[in-house]
Amino acid sequence: MDAYGAPVIGEHGRWLGIVVVMHDITELIKLEQIRKDFVANVSHELKTPVTSIKGFSETLLFGAYKNEETLLSFLEIIHKESNRLQMLINDLLDLSKVEQVGYKVNLNKVELREILIRGLEMTTHLVEEKNIKMETTVDENVHVLGDKNRLIQIMMNLLANAITYSPENTTIHVNIYKNKTFGVFQIQDEGIGIKKSEINRIFERFYRVDRARSRNSGGTGLGLAIVKHLVEAHHGLIEVESEVGKGTIFTVSIPIVKS
Ligand code: ADP
Repeated sequence: MDAYGAPVIGEHGRWLGIVVVMHDITELIKLEQIRKDFVANVSHELKTPVTSIKGFSETLLFGAYKNEETLLSFLEIIHKESNRLQMLINDLLDLSKVEQVGYKVNLNKVELREILIRGLEMTTHLVEEKNIKMETTVDENVHVLGDKNRLIQIMMNLLANAITYSPENTTIHVNIYKNKTFGVFQIQDEGIGIKKSEINRIFERFYRVDRARSRNSGGTGLGLAIVKHLVEAHHGLIEVESEVGKGTIFTVSIPIVKS
């Protein structure tokens, strides 16, 4: 609580009392803490790959380049870490864009089946690596009011997460349908699941249930924060149901265009 007071003086300088103004600054303190945490997270996430790139390149420069095997393996690490930096910077820039007050997407008539096809194309390599079976149940002519590229981004992020957090040889099911108001796509995996207490937190910037696992799989920890903003920019909804050890269902609803 922040407070200040001022005396109230009446006619002939008579002292009438004090006016006290109080501001509840709890919200401000909370916002300031969120900002500080964000800056600390960004710094940490940037520092890790930069330290690695610097260390390995210096070792090479000091002579390790003479051994061809060492040269190749260090260059691979430097390449992987620079890719990581690039992804992180791209996601940070994208997040700051979609978080801006008044951010708008380009709304057009888009068919959800098309979005799924593009999402599947972009994640084929991940599916093959883990021998995951993709099953789809798709209603035709589910047209929504959306930004095609942004919807593909949402779909791709959720598919990539479903694959990342699933063991090998499992099945991911994608369901597309419509109700009176929304075109819906639902992505259901048989993966590790998310605890009830963590479900609301996964949309926070840099929040990861298992930090090491997410980093190893190449995630930036910003995907779902971006997805949430994008769904909101479409006036849509995103919901999560999950059971630890059984799997997770993400359901995205986007306002429909009646054809
Ligand atoms: P990341 O880059 O870490 O995947 P996201 O913002 O996409 O970042 O997701 C945040 C966290 O939510 C992940 O680190 C993971 O712990 C959890 N998560 C997201 N999708 C799933 C899923 N399908 N199954 C289990 N956990 C998930």
